[in-house]
Amino acid sequence: MTRDIQDVIIVGGGPAGLGAALYTARDKLKTLIVEKYIPGGQILTTDRIENYPGFDNIDGASLVMKMQKQVETFGARIKQTSAVTAVEKREDGNIDVITGDDTLVARAVILSPGSSYRHLDVPGEEEFRNAGAGVSYCGTCDAPFFRDKVVVSIGGGNTAVEETLHLTKYASKVIMVHRRDEFRAAKILVEELMDKVNEPNSNLEIKYDTVALAIEGDGRVQSAKLQNVKTQAVEDQACGGVFIFVGTVPNTHFLEGSLEMNESGFIKCDAARLRTSMPGVFVAGDCRVGADMQLVTAVADGVTAAMALNEYYRDPAWWNSVNEEYLQPSGV
Ligand code: NAP
Repeated sequence: MTRDIQDVIIVGGGPAGLGAALYTARDKLKTLIVEKYIPGGQILTTDRIENYPGFDNIDGASLVMKMQKQVETFGARIKQTSAVTAVEKREDGNIDVITGDDTLVARAVILSPGSSYRHLDVPGEEEFRNAGAGVSYCGTCDAPFFRDKVVVSIGGGNTAVEETLHLTKYASKVIMVHRRDEFRAAKILVEELMDKVNEPNSNLEIKYDTVALAIEGDGRVQSAKLQNVKTQAVEDQACGGVFIFVGTVPNTHFLEGSLEMNESGFIKCDAARLRTSMPGVFVAGDCRVGADMQLVTAVADGVTAAMALNEYYRDPAWWNSVNEEYLQPSGV
C-alpha cells in the first residue's frame, strides 16, 4: 500500500505546533498536525492572556480558536489521534509517526508536545485552578492579576525564585514557601532573592521547611494551610492567590530512547535552528531544553522550526552542519 506522505507532521497542536503550521501551510507544504485532545495545549485553560502582542486581553480558548482557523485557512489539517507512541527514522529517509491507531509518514517532523506543570496534589488546587480563582502556575503570565494582593508562592528551584521576584513587583506581599531550608536554585538567583528579602520594608517573606497542606476559599482563594515540617505547626495564611512553581514535566516520555534528552526529559536541540538528534525531526516549544515557557516564545519556536525545514529539504546534509555564527554570543 502506498502511504500518503506528508511534507511535515507536527506532533502537538499547542501554540508551538500552530505557529509552525501557519508557516509550513503558507509555504504550501502538506502539513498535518496530530493532536490527541483538541488543539490549544496549556493555554486552552488560561482565562486571561495579556502578554501576547496584539491582544490587550483574550482568553486562551478564543486565541486558540483564531489560531486554528488561521492555519486551516491556509490548508493545514488537524487530525485527532490516539497518543503518538514513537517517532522513527525510516531507511528511505522519511519519518514514521506511530500512534495507537495508525502509522503516519512525513518527510520531516516538528515535535511540539509541550509540557505540564507539576502539581502539588493538595485539596483546593484543582478547584481554584485558574488565575481568576487564584491558583496559578505562571507568575510571568498572571502576576498583574494579583496587584496589591497577598500571595503565596511555592517551590525552591530557579523558576520559583525568578517568578517570586517577579510577583514582588505586583503583589502587596509575597510569602514564599519552600519545603527545605536550602534552595535548589542557582546561587546568583538565591543571592538576588536574599537581597530582596533584606530590603527595608520588603514585601517578600520566606517560610522554610514549610509545605502547603491545602488551598482554601469560597469561590476564590482566601487562604493556604501551611505546615512547618520540623515543628509540625499548622497555620492558615490569608492570601488572594497561590502560585505553584514545583517543576515542569515535558510530555516527551514517548520519545525516550529515540532522541537525546536531558535528565529531566527536555529534548536536546541547537537553539538556533531547533534540530534534534534525529535528522529531519525538529522540536519547538516548552518540551525543549532552554525553552522560555511562554506563549509567544512557543509560537516563535514553531516558526523557527518551520523556516529551518526548508534548509533541510534543500540539503539533508545541512542537518549536521555547524554554523559558527550561532555558537558565538557576539555572532563573530
Ligand atoms: P526544579 O528545578 O525541578 O525545582 C522544583 C522545586 O520545587 C524544587 O525546589 C523542589 O523542592 C520543589 N518541589 C518539587 N515538588 C514539590 C512538592 N510536591 N512540594 C513542594 N515543593 C516541591 O524546577 P524548575 O524550577 O521549574 O526548573 C526546571 C528546569 O528549568 C531546571 O533545570 C532549572 O534549572 C531550569 N530553569 C532555569 C532557569 C534559569 O537558568 N534562569 C530558570 C527557570 C528554570 P526540592 O528542592 O526540595 O526538591
